[in-house]
Amino acid sequence: MTTEQKDSQQWGRVLICGGVNWANNGRKERSANSAADLLSPVILRSLCNVKVNKIITGPSANYAVVLDVHGAAYIFGKAPSPSLAESKDGIISEHAPIKISPSAVGLPEGAKFISGAAARGHILLVDDHGGVWGCGNNVVGQIGLPVTMLINDLTRVTGPWAKDPESKIIQVTAGHTFSLFLTSTGQVYAAGSSECGQLGNGKTGERLVKAGKFSYDVEVPPRLVQGFEKKKIVQISSGNQHSLALDEEGYVYAWGYAGYSRLGLQDQKDRLVPTIVPHFAGNNIASRAAEVLCGPTSSVVVDRQKMFLIAGKFKLTGDGSTGQPYTYFKPIQDITSCRIIKASCGGCTHLLTTPEGDGVMTVGFGQGCLYGELGLGPDVGKSATKPQKIEPLNGIDIIDVAGGAFFSMFLARPNDALSNLDRYPEHIESESICLQCKEDNTGEDLLECEKCDAPYHPGCLTPPLDGIPDGEWFCPPCTVQADAGPDEPFEPLPIDGPKPRKKPASSAIKSISSLVNPVVERAVTPKMGKSASPKPESVRSNTPKGTPTSKRKASESVQGSAKKQK
Ligand SMILES: [Zn+2]
Ligand SMILES: [Zn+2]
Repeated sequence: MTTEQKDSQQWGRVLICGGVNWANNGRKERSANSAADLLSPVILRSLCNVKVNKIITGPSANYAVVLDVHGAAYIFGKAPSPSLAESKDGIISEHAPIKISPSAVGLPEGAKFISGAAARGHILLVDDHGGVWGCGNNVVGQIGLPVTMLINDLTRVTGPWAKDPESKIIQVTAGHTFSLFLTSTGQVYAAGSSECGQLGNGKTGERLVKAGKFSYDVEVPPRLVQGFEKKKIVQISSGNQHSLALDEEGYVYAWGYAGYSRLGLQDQKDRLVPTIVPHFAGNNIASRAAEVLCGPTSSVVVDRQKMFLIAGKFKLTGDGSTGQPYTYFKPIQDITSCRIIKASCGGCTHLLTTPEGDGVMTVGFGQGCLYGELGLGPDVGKSATKPQKIEPLNGIDIIDVAGGAFFSMFLARPNDALSNLDRYPEHIESESICLQCKEDNTGEDLLECEKCDAPYHPGCLTPPLDGIPDGEWFCPPCTVQADAGPDEPFEPLPIDGPKPRKKPASSAIKSISSLVNPVVERAVTPKMGKSASPKPESVRSNTPKGTPTSKRKASESVQGSAKKQK
């Protein structure tokens, strides 16, 4: 995003809605599990004490990547590389995201992951030293590494940019079978399959392999995208098979597959090199572009007047559908007067924020949404052909939006409205008496931790509190954990097994930075059953060697309690 958060103080909490049944998302047989869909945005409890400054997913991604202010990455959902997950089905529960520290891939202490891209089958992360790391499907070299079926662990991707010491990678994007790499010097590199010109190097290398089957050139390592030599590109975006780039003067370039006129160039001819989009090339600087975004089969430009314009196919019926795609960039009715702050395109969703009063209004639209990914609430339809205010987010200070294939994420600054939002899961097992004094008859109200529900008397805390504080509150262990650096292990939610630690986590955890080989830090992953009610199940842990592993017994009692007992 061009509106890249330059202010490092910008952080928030992760909200999520839509399909979280990762194994069945996108499958027909999912209907039996649709009860698990989150129809309204809720606070993702497992990460609710983490200060997050980046939420990453993509229109074809059935998983999420979340970056915190300390530079660690958290991943949950259907992992692009099965080895990231512990379970056989490759699913990482949203209640126990894996945490990957920059040092786990071999980066020096203090390095941070700062951005990334999530494609259907591969993932890329960018660090603040300008390095790129990828894993997942690499069958056509889409990660930028020598062709192989799968890259198991995050592996460094290098390219010709490394020859120029001034040149660092600052942004990456990814489609089904390719990736783009933007350098700090404003050049773009591409790797993967040349199909449809998506690598922007002037050719596809198409050849007939056998009747009806073609193969295409594969570019590895990444190769320079043509036509930007005298320009400075400042932002890029990719759909499944096409890309957009924005230069510092506000000109927009499109290339790749042009089906449904998704390039906004008024025809369906694939472009093998970046092609300027006339709509944003006028002399009037205000009509040029401020940000480019790609949906799976559409392109979005936010112009310098902050208007949302779209081309291609983004609906199932009527204007903008297969039969009547937008052949050039057009505004969307009902939001023509909205100034766009943040926008994102998911599988069939479009999410955006726009100023309202002192705060923001969060808006969504999209047809064919089956999972509640618009988050409009339980009493409203799941799909919206026209932009709708996402009412459950009323009053919540949304600072970023991210649309996935079947779910959506929002980043919310803590405020009172956020504290009133439901947490997910709503209930987890916890103690019912003060963890400090072990008494419940003192007459004093109990304060419960937002994350683990651990109860304390405000007066039993150090220092003692006068009463129930406004806004969010975390117990001492969850507070310590939230401020722990990227190398500290991540504590999953005590969904069906481990209970929250009774003592500050810092005393019980070991840094993994001392471990020799790159290690993907894995938290204890509770096995999630299909039923809603947690049952005792085996709990696996791959605690680093040397750390005593205590097998904690699962408790059967799941105790629901008010968020704050007032
Ligand atoms: Zn107490
Ligand atoms: Zn807690």
